[in-house]
Amino acid sequence: MHPTVPPASAPQAPGRATDPSSSAASGPPSAVAAAKPPGGPPLAPAEPAARRLEALAARVVQCEACPGLRAYCQEVARTKRRAFADWEYWGRPLPGFGDPQARLLVVGLAPAAHGGNRTGRMFTGDSSADWLLRAMYRAGFANQPTSTHRGDGLRLLGAYITAACRCAPPDNRPTPAELAACRPFLVEELGILWPSLRAVVVLGQIALAAYLRALADLGRAPAGPRPAFAHGATYRFGPGHPALIVSYHPSRQNTQTGRLSEAMLDQVFATARALCDGAEA
Ligand code: SF4
Repeated sequence: MHPTVPPASAPQAPGRATDPSSSAASGPPSAVAAAKPPGGPPLAPAEPAARRLEALAARVVQCEACPGLRAYCQEVARTKRRAFADWEYWGRPLPGFGDPQARLLVVGLAPAAHGGNRTGRMFTGDSSADWLLRAMYRAGFANQPTSTHRGDGLRLLGAYITAACRCAPPDNRPTPAELAACRPFLVEELGILWPSLRAVVVLGQIALAAYLRALADLGRAPAGPRPAFAHGATYRFGPGHPALIVSYHPSRQNTQTGRLSEAMLDQVFATARALCDGAEA
């Protein structure tokens, strides 16, 4: 029997979700500012990162900026998959979660319909989560190698997980407009975590593109040629700028076809470990 997860419970602090039952209109930061949602506006940079991430999470879970995605997530939550019939699906947008002083940021694509959209936490409850957390655990970025549900005891150690899109999209393919609508959340997250970050792992081409656009929006676009997508490629942009490590996404499409092996993903996080520890310039 799988645990039933109450919709108002929270993932690891500070990526803590608040009660998503509010019907108040909200959206990503630009839209939120106009709508004045209950979650409030972004907190000032002087506030601790944990509080700012918590305030951001409160706005994320109430976002309704993409009507198509919101309807899809709610429909999946209503109809469920037979194997998860005893779950109360989350069905809302997902905030990032992890260590507010993270040295490593992991950027994924989007929650899975029956993974994050069910469990209410990024990379939780599906095979991508199994792969990612095993690799992060082996590299010392998580206290356990599994991520099955909120309240499972998972803690990220010096790491933070987020995604390009915070609502589960049909066929795992958010539209360009949906990615653009969601990017301000990533920009805000990046701005909060920036002082402590040493490395960023992007999982897949969409995550890479979203991260590079977020850097530009933040006014931190790296000089030089645009980083290309190649598994294992590592880009160092100089002091004050986290290194970028590119990886295939641990989706079934990649893991079941052999495009991505556990050893390949381990190497990505071993590189991240070295960069975060200052063992690699
Ligand atoms: S994808 Fe992002 S911007 Fe669109 S509704 Fe979900 S949280 Fe809001």
